[in-house]
Amino acid sequence: MNKVINRIQKLPELLKNQIKAGEVITKPKDVVKEIMENALDAGSTALKLEIKEGGVVLIRLQDNGCGIPKEQLMLALTAHATSKITELSDLNEVQTMGFRGEALASIVSVSRLRLSSNAKDQDHGWAIKASEDAFDTNGIEPDPIQSGTIIEVKDLFFNAKARREFLSSTSVEARQIEEVVRKIALSRYGVSISYQSEKKTMQINASQTYNDIDRIRTIMGDAFAKHALWVSGEKDGIKVEGYITDPQYQRAKSDMQYLFLNGRAIKESSLTMAVKQAYRDVMYQKNQPGIVLYITTDPNRVDVNIHPTKEQVRIKDIKQFSSLMFHLTASTLQSLRPQMSASKAEVFVAQRPSIAFSDIELPKLATQKSFVNNEEETPSRIMPQQTTFTQAESTQATLPDQPLGQAIAQLHGIYILSQAKDGLIIVDMHAAHERILYEKMKLAYKEEGLLKQSLMVPIECHLTQDQVECLDQNQILLSQLGFDASCANDEVYLIRSIPKALCDKKASILFQETLNALHAHQSSSPIDVTIHEVLSTMSCHSAIRANRQLSLIEMNQLLRDMEVAVHGSQCNHGRPTWVHWNMSKLDDLFHRGQ
Ligand code: ADP
Ligand code: MG
Repeated sequence: MNKVINRIQKLPELLKNQIKAGEVITKPKDVVKEIMENALDAGSTALKLEIKEGGVVLIRLQDNGCGIPKEQLMLALTAHATSKITELSDLNEVQTMGFRGEALASIVSVSRLRLSSNAKDQDHGWAIKASEDAFDTNGIEPDPIQSGTIIEVKDLFFNAKARREFLSSTSVEARQIEEVVRKIALSRYGVSISYQSEKKTMQINASQTYNDIDRIRTIMGDAFAKHALWVSGEKDGIKVEGYITDPQYQRAKSDMQYLFLNGRAIKESSLTMAVKQAYRDVMYQKNQPGIVLYITTDPNRVDVNIHPTKEQVRIKDIKQFSSLMFHLTASTLQSLRPQMSASKAEVFVAQRPSIAFSDIELPKLATQKSFVNNEEETPSRIMPQQTTFTQAESTQATLPDQPLGQAIAQLHGIYILSQAKDGLIIVDMHAAHERILYEKMKLAYKEEGLLKQSLMVPIECHLTQDQVECLDQNQILLSQLGFDASCANDEVYLIRSIPKALCDKKASILFQETLNALHAHQSSSPIDVTIHEVLSTMSCHSAIRANRQLSLIEMNQLLRDMEVAVHGSQCNHGRPTWVHWNMSKLDDLFHRGQ
């Protein structure tokens, strides 16, 4: 049975505010967000927050902002009362965090609130208490507060049983509040924040710039700071700066990703996606990077009034934003070289070195032929200086300043051991070679297609029906990848050429693997992603396999190539290609010097 519909009537003010509170204040963290934003809007530079029992029993914030004059205290707690806009057109240019004038009224409607404040030109401060829709009968009373504002919110949701039941444990609520504090701190480098709960205290100092790694460390933790890379760029009236993490920092969750637009924390998945796209080649499976990026643009390009909490915004020409963020991230990641990956953010200089690949053709190397005899393939590229060491030289001579050191041995046909300036470097030779081939082929494909090696005697290859179809549909593409094949009869095909870079590999397997990769990715991915997947498969298939004995010369060549290769520190699947054990770590293992 439906309830009989009552007569239409206007909602009382309290009920309106409680309904409003249902949108903006669903958790203690929402109170914290609103009152901290109010404090920022008031020009505060020092905030002191205290919470009890996850914010349900008490949330208390003291700021050093402009304060609220005595005669406006009551108004501040009234719905749709704001000092931040006066007409609709102001909305387009709004620079403050709040402007809807509904937060304090909503909070009052579901808690017991005390607001004390001392504005400039007043002899002393004043305080007011309010709860639900009533102000305290004592009215506004004098208060000893020196300057700024203190807001105290007690017994949150005491009159909203349903909301209380949806609250999580005290510690979970507290953690969510800490997350809000972190976001606010990230959004304003010039503001100091102290936070205290029963279990935790945090002290975040003010700074002069966003680019302050110590402040970032306090907020985001040691691991983030250790792997943080500063990025900065500007285009089409959009400025982006901040920190991203190097590929060694990989998290299962996307919980270390923060975007700010004109000082406001926002959620905009297409922008985060754009940054993550740039990690596609260096991240293991679905792992996530860390991001703290600040976007600044003309406020007229952003509509912040589409959602009560204002975390979602509407951005005009969002593609320009995502494109800038993608390119900034990609070029920073591509400019990383081993010495940088192992170093700290402070010394990062985003100068992209010219890409240089010495063509390592390991079978040739094994017979001591020259490493680089194919200048005609890459005429415009600078070849790195060839340094070769005999075993004696490589272990005894004073070590040149090469980030990945000098090879000293091969371990179980899988790892290269290298003596570096400070300790030992262990290289996964397959993973490293795979990356080098992959980047080399990507570049070659982009420039003029992969060079072909014609086979004197065509090689027979039996294809499945899927492979035949894939071949028929992609003749041109396959030719650009270096493969030519023609039908002999039914499903037997003759391979006439294969990519030159991979010419020592078993042609029929390579060809079939390539067709399989093409078939697997083509239907679901855009063409450039498909090509990269195919090249990645080809390079994985062609990279040196375990148990290939390498000479020291070959090993050193691989190290030198890794040093200059784009993304040389990760294999194509995002796993590391090398690790570094410095001397103090080794000393620790043996309790030396303790
Ligand atoms: P809004 O922030 O959208 O204007 P609020 O309900 O959050 O609405 O606050 C109402 C008004 O109270 C603000 O416009 C501001 O003038 C005043 N106010 C709130 N908190 C503070 C504070 N900490 N310091 C100074 N003024 C404040
Ligand atoms: Mg506000």
